[in-house]
Amino acid sequence: MSTAVSRGTSPVPPAGQPRLTVLSGPSGVGKSTVVAHMRKAHPEVWLSVSATTRKPRPGEREGVQYFFVEDEEFDKLVANGELLEWAEFAGNRYGTPRKAVLDRLEAGEPVLLEIDLQGARQVRETMPEAQLVFLAPPSWDELVRRLTGRGTESPEVIERRLKVAKIELAAESEFDTTLVNTSVEDVARELLALLS
Ligand code: ADP
Ligand code: 5GP
Repeated sequence: MSTAVSRGTSPVPPAGQPRLTVLSGPSGVGKSTVVAHMRKAHPEVWLSVSATTRKPRPGEREGVQYFFVEDEEFDKLVANGELLEWAEFAGNRYGTPRKAVLDRLEAGEPVLLEIDLQGARQVRETMPEAQLVFLAPPSWDELVRRLTGRGTESPEVIERRLKVAKIELAAESEFDTTLVNTSVEDVARELLALLS
């Protein structure tokens, strides 16, 4: 059964132009899980690796989940125009390295960004042909369960992220398509279909 809600607003890129897809959704909804599941079966799907000032979680590796940088280094990336977009999220900064994305699009390859609402809005402004996909939880209670159950954040950080989640959920209609993350397998399949 499909979980997808399409608003029919997704701009189709001109023939031959690869697609830039942005995946957003509240913290803990399952973005990383869905993307990892999809890429296990389809390692050819290219995902942009962001720079962040957040400290690595156990198991996260430099250059794989993120490029982990100090505040000063992030300042430099911003000042030198090296980020396609960037935002502060729940006390840390995150940004998409511009060159890798543009190189990939120029090479004719689809590009996937997993970024927050503020970043998605910036991409919509600067690259209006991008497709914006929102990953929604089956319910608010389930989102709280997932974010808490992941066990990677302190209660204070969880509370902060849940506050932001309310704002993000209210912006769902700005996205071209919503996928409801009930089943990781279903959503990974639907996301893959949207990419090309
Ligand atoms: P995000 O990247 O959106 O912050 P994660 O991918 O880290 O979220 O997922 C948060 C938690 O929810 C993880 O513990 C993950 O295993 C769990 N999770 C993700 N998708 C599902 C799902 N469809 N059903 C149940 N649990 C899920
Ligand atoms: P986390 O700390 O859980 O890995 O990520 C927190 C939030 O930051 C998530 O919503 C994630 O999508 C977002 N994020 C990750 N990388 C980027 C980025 O490069 N730019 C923006 N704007 N948000 C990002």
